[in-house]
Amino acid sequence: MWINDQPTTWEWAKNSADGLKVIQGQVFWNLVESGQPVQVSLDGPDDPARLIMPGAAATLRQRKTGRPLFDRYIVADYSGASSEILQRRSICIADATAKRPIARVAGKFTRESLLAFFLRTLRSATDQGCRCLLGCDHQYGVPLGFAELLGLETQDWRTLLHQLVIGANGVPSLEHPKFYCRKVNQWLVARGHLPYFYTATKASQYSDKQYIDGTECLIVPATDPRGDRPEAERNRLVRRLTEQFWALSGQPKFFNRVGDNGTVGGQSILGLEKFYGLLALTADSIPLAVWPFDGPDLDSSAYEGRHVLVEPYPSGVRPTDVMQTDWDDAKSCVQALRNADFNGQLAGLLSFRSVCGECIRRVRMEGWIALNPVRSLNSPAGACRFCSNSLNF
Ligand SMILES: [Zn+2]
Repeated sequence: MWINDQPTTWEWAKNSADGLKVIQGQVFWNLVESGQPVQVSLDGPDDPARLIMPGAAATLRQRKTGRPLFDRYIVADYSGASSEILQRRSICIADATAKRPIARVAGKFTRESLLAFFLRTLRSATDQGCRCLLGCDHQYGVPLGFAELLGLETQDWRTLLHQLVIGANGVPSLEHPKFYCRKVNQWLVARGHLPYFYTATKASQYSDKQYIDGTECLIVPATDPRGDRPEAERNRLVRRLTEQFWALSGQPKFFNRVGDNGTVGGQSILGLEKFYGLLALTADSIPLAVWPFDGPDLDSSAYEGRHVLVEPYPSGVRPTDVMQTDWDDAKSCVQALRNADFNGQLAGLLSFRSVCGECIRRVRMEGWIALNPVRSLNSPAGACRFCSNSLNF
């Protein structure tokens, strides 16, 4: 059901006398103030993908030369926990300005209240003309091969995000990974494909006693159902280009592994839904761009005068002598981004010159982890770093 042109899903409350409750899109419902008229529709707007297109004009003052490029840096350490108590324990936000040291934002956050915090902060920063660099540590996109497997749009990231959120073409829509992964695997198996998601530690919980027809294999298996596929196939299906060409410390886990310690698949599935909410709620009112989806180079006009969202990966930038806690994760990301900006390296680190058009297209669909270097000293001149194709085409 569409509320003011935003997608929501409802179900009966446990005690049906209590009426309906929102199970998806709570944030859109919360925006409706008491007594305010609401537009309700079952079909949605004619061109729903337009809801998350950035419509707001660039309004932020920006230094043309010199540094830093941003006035404020905010990174949230995310959580895929289903219980709100665990979310409140593990979501924390690091916040710094050019002059003020990194501080932990007071309060305990759920994914829902984190989204509200981002909105509030972006609104007041915009009013003050303060340009923010922001991040949340989950993937902002999915491996291109996953979108292709589901038969979804692969030309435009915002349209793909929209299709994932609402479940276009009969594909399961994004929801908590313990339901989403089972439904996607069932959807694939019913069409003659192998399952996609797996979890080493929660297979029976995620499968909910469901097996692949005619086998004793759980629908969300404990081992990678694509593990024996050729490397090139795996590289497209379960890895984004940024994970394939990883040059920071640690090694991000791949998208099809969920529910295990240190995996990012589950929190990305949840994060993408909230991310969609953020884009929809800021589209007309806040100048906000998302790198590298809106353009491969930070110093291009797509980002000028706008706040910028980037995808951080804490383990890639956390100093090795610092113990891993949620707070240190958020803090390390802010520190690394702010340092890069202060040193005048940020625009260079967030740019894709010397990469061929085809690889740029993939990066703009899948995303790229901020500060993972794009260039390599070993790249031959005139050739694409990723696929070695000539750059002259
Ligand atoms: Zn290439």
